[in-house]
Amino acid sequence: ESFNELNISKQMQYAIADLGFEKPTPIQAQSFSVIMSGTDMVGIAQTGTGKTFAYMLPILQDLKFSKETNPRVLVMVPTRELVLQVVEEIEKFGKYASIRVIGVFGGTNINRQKEAVAEGADIIVATPGRLYDLVVSRALQLKAIKKVVIDEVDVMLDLGFRFQLTNILELLPTKRQNIMFSATMTDEVNVFIHDFFIAPTTVSV
Ligand code: AMP
Repeated sequence: ESFNELNISKQMQYAIADLGFEKPTPIQAQSFSVIMSGTDMVGIAQTGTGKTFAYMLPILQDLKFSKETNPRVLVMVPTRELVLQVVEEIEKFGKYASIRVIGVFGGTNINRQKEAVAEGADIIVATPGRLYDLVVSRALQLKAIKKVVIDEVDVMLDLGFRFQLTNILELLPTKRQNIMFSATMTDEVNVFIHDFFIAPTTVSV
């Protein structure tokens, strides 16, 4: 399979070529059309399979310019390192599309993050704990979220983020697309899918 066959926009193809990617990884090839179709998706994939771009390519391709200041895409990841990594990946597309992205995580000054949120963003990448704090303190509004990605949900649950994750999902607009990635399928992960997803398509590599 080539990126060409995936109905990727010219703009995105330039960005991909710039990154030096020649063909989609299996998780990318399988996720693209599912995510573009708007249905919920559960991806079973390990780190290193290219799962970040598997969800980011279709999300970025679908993200139209908007004057909305509240984020429309929420990406939740378990750690600060992953927040920084995902933000960096998104910023690589900045040359081809003006995407406003912010990353928030715990263990650092919340006031500066509140200021960043107030400036507006299209995409927010966050750890669940800090995200929850920002929402509870009313610094962040989730009412414009159309797509949510929960990456490494198994790690997130192992780290004890179940409460924050549940509460955040309950605050999101009901009309949204849910995308989840996990290295393994556990009972606890299944509970989340059952409670919050609608007829998800499962993609496994
Ligand atoms: P991930 O599994 O998302 O952490 O990605 C692992 C690494 O693979 C990252 O360094 C990506 O930049 C890289 N990568 C993602 N997609 C591709 C691709 N289609 N071809 C080559 N490398 C890729």
